[in-house]
Amino acid sequence: MFKALVVEKNEEGKTSASVQELSLDQLPAGDVTVAVEYSTVNYKDGLCIGPGGGLVRNYPHVPGIDMAGTVEASDDPRYKAGDKVVLTGWRVGEAYWGGYSQKARVKADWLVPLPDGLDTRQAMAVGTAGFTAMLAVMALEDHGIKDGPVLVTGAAGGVGSVATAILSALGHEVAAVTGRPETADYLKSLGATQIVAREEINETTKRPLEAEAWGGCVDAVGGDMLARVLGQMKYGASVAAVGLAGGAGLPATVIPFLLRGVNLLGIDSVMQPYDNRVRAWQRIAKDLPMDKLEAMVQPATLSDLPDLGRGILKGQVKGRIVVDLNA
Ligand code: NDP
Repeated sequence: MFKALVVEKNEEGKTSASVQELSLDQLPAGDVTVAVEYSTVNYKDGLCIGPGGGLVRNYPHVPGIDMAGTVEASDDPRYKAGDKVVLTGWRVGEAYWGGYSQKARVKADWLVPLPDGLDTRQAMAVGTAGFTAMLAVMALEDHGIKDGPVLVTGAAGGVGSVATAILSALGHEVAAVTGRPETADYLKSLGATQIVAREEINETTKRPLEAEAWGGCVDAVGGDMLARVLGQMKYGASVAAVGLAGGAGLPATVIPFLLRGVNLLGIDSVMQPYDNRVRAWQRIAKDLPMDKLEAMVQPATLSDLPDLGRGILKGQVKGRIVVDLNA
């Protein structure tokens, strides 16, 4: 028997989450059985644990959109018992049972071998949010980061914290946008050279173009924030759009694209091909300073998850929550 967080739906359509004991024969079909050591809390997990079930496709459900652990059994020649693996994406934790479980059975195609230099806890301190931050930085690099500070929005959150630390370690000046002034020292400790109050961006003139300010941007917020930022980018600079913590709308004009050649790059971590996933994890192991990663971590257990899920939806979580499945 092993422990998992199970989300159920009753006859009135109300969902509830509780820690339960399951047996291996209850796990779904898959090629590889993983002894999960760590998982994390992402924005999507908040939706899936919370009332209404968010993105959950079928019940009962085990949420957790990422996991890292050790292969226990494998029908696939690419993996053998004892291998350390990490999993993000592929709608795990939404359409398929996820990482909030001491055991998981998954498709071998979804896994990536843990890169040298990262243990399973560090891999989940990074987690889906950090993996996505790395994809965003790689996309900016592919299109050329211009001189001047790189803006990171939603900076105190998961994606923002990791993006700040990576960009700073790569030698860029980082301007961190936050709605929580009390996180300024934390953001500076991750390498931010400038703290920008959320209102400073949101309450600008709303003209389609403003002074050219940013050499690149990782945007975790969307909505008004993204619309304002587009008009502040330097000529030819790129915005990697990652999230919608501040809204799914985009009240922008085409002017920044036409008159400043701004690139808007969409980042999707869910359906990344294997080679890209391996490349991103190797870059994380190489370019993300582990002391800064440690500063982001807030430890948690399975029973903490319902509260933490509510917190992340309210934008109250700082950095990365790492769930220890054996605590
Ligand atoms: P977090 O909740 O950890 O961080 C989001 C941050 O955004 C908050 O900490 C806050 O930062 C800021 N924020 C929250 N609400 C608002 C608001 N109303 N207006 C302006 N800023 C706001 O989430 P993550 O970092 O894990 O994820 C960020 C976004 O990225 C989410 O929408 C998530 O779904 C998405 N995502 C997308 C992925 C992809 O593949 N494209 C993968 C992973 C995440 P502060 O307090 O510093 O202002």
